[in-house]
Amino acid sequence: MPNITQNSVPVIEISKVATRFGDQVVHSGVDLEVRRAEIFAVIGGSGSGKSTLLREMILLQRPDSGSISILGADLQQLTDDAAAALRQRWGVMFQHGGLFGSLTVLENVGLPLREHTRLDDALIDELARWKIAMSGLKPEVASQYPSELSGGMLKRASLARAMALDPELLFLDEPTAGLDPESAAGVDQLVLKLRDVFGLTIVMITHDLDLLWQVADRVAVLADGKVQGLGSMSELARMDHPAIRPYFEGPRSHAASQHQTQK
Ligand code: ADP
Ligand code: MG
Repeated sequence: MPNITQNSVPVIEISKVATRFGDQVVHSGVDLEVRRAEIFAVIGGSGSGKSTLLREMILLQRPDSGSISILGADLQQLTDDAAAALRQRWGVMFQHGGLFGSLTVLENVGLPLREHTRLDDALIDELARWKIAMSGLKPEVASQYPSELSGGMLKRASLARAMALDPELLFLDEPTAGLDPESAAGVDQLVLKLRDVFGLTIVMITHDLDLLWQVADRVAVLADGKVQGLGSMSELARMDHPAIRPYFEGPRSHAASQHQTQK
């Protein structure tokens, strides 16, 4: 583990976040901090409020109360200009990729550059090709359409687009969901590479045990409206909370824990 994940200023600070939909309480006091260059995972049962928390972090939704600060900016206090500037400092990979079906991979990856910079087309294409290569895709994929790609290639293309503006922070919603084991392992390695090579801070929602054991530095377990446990997988494995135990019981969790890298 690089030491940069220790004792540095938090990239994300979430304090006392509460969120309701009508009578339904989704968050009743979520607190957490994500450190620079950390790979941080959020886990929790279906409906525990993971995606809602992610949407709150990326300014798609507001909590009812509490505060969220990202890269030093308090999300509640942002002007429109500051929000637009902040959005360019993070990349988001949505669960279903979110690529435009009518655009090639090259056009999809270049889109954020077309929207947010005044670079000319040739340079945008060049930068987009570099992001495509960095995501582990062959050059010829650039001219293909999303419908022509496998699940693993789609995830990589969507990651290339999330990286288009050289973000400091990357949000990944279920980056390996629906992939065969080999493609999923490729995505695991890619996530690690992005952190190690570019010093990116990565926040991911996942229930992929291999990704959790081999890639995540720290994991927050969301249940009953709050973070019920926080730590490395080895630390969580020693906790007795009913929301945490299911991740450590059964043959699948046993197999995944055997491959863990030392944390
Ligand atoms: P998770 O991602 O952990 O499965 P979500 O954050 O998507 O959970 O949802 C948490 C709960 O909030 C669910 O019960 C969901 O139905 C509800 N919810 C999420 N978004 C909305 C919304 N816009 N309107 C009403 N209910 C919502
Ligand atoms: Mg979700």
